[in-house]
Amino acid sequence: MAQKFNITKLVLADRSKESGLYHFVATMSDNTQCRMIYTRNPDWKLIDVNRLLTVPCPICRKDYYCNCLARHTDELERQVADKQLIQEV
Ligand SMILES: [Zn+2]
Repeated sequence: MAQKFNITKLVLADRSKESGLYHFVATMSDNTQCRMIYTRNPDWKLIDVNRLLTVPCPICRKDYYCNCLARHTDELERQVADKQLIQEV
């Protein structure tokens, strides 16, 4: 199966001490951007993904809100782990 996503960059955007949530902005090779919300207790766990509306969705091509990326949280989480992107933030 062809890879749909290729996360190239991860930036820490916000960190809430109260909730323990980390907000990252991920950028992909096709310029898709999404906000990835993680917890860490103690292992990193992706709990939500929201596409930023900067470019159309790579899956459905809509330029407004859709849920496509949320259906691929497992793959996105695996990529971040495989590429050790959080460790570089
Ligand atoms: Zn979509």
